[in-house]
Amino acid sequence: MPRPSQRTRARKRSSKRLPGGGAAFHYKKEKVGSSRCARCGRVLSGIPKSVQSKMGKLTASQKRIQRIYGGQLCHLCLQYSLKQAVRERIK
Ligand SMILES: [Zn+2]
Repeated sequence: MPRPSQRTRARKRSSKRLPGGGAAFHYKKEKVGSSRCARCGRVLSGIPKSVQSKMGKLTASQKRIQRIYGGQLCHLCLQYSLKQAVRERIK
C-alpha cells in the first residue's frame, strides 16, 4: 500500500522491476503549471512556479506582483482595461 501522500492521481507512476522478481511503482514529483492571465491566457511573469507546500512558505509579496490585478491579469490586458475604463468615463 502506498503512503498516503502517494495516493493521488496527480503524481505520475512508472512500474519498475525489482531484483527479486517483483514489481513496484516509482512516483515522480508533481508537475506544476505556471500562472496564466485570466483574460488572454498568457503566462504571467514574476510569479513563482512551485508546489503548494512551498508556495505557503513564501511571503505574500513574493507570490504576486504588487499592482492592481497582479497575479490575475497580464500587463497588456491591464493596460487595455484601464484605457477602456477611462474612455468610458470621458463619454
Ligand atoms: Zn492577458
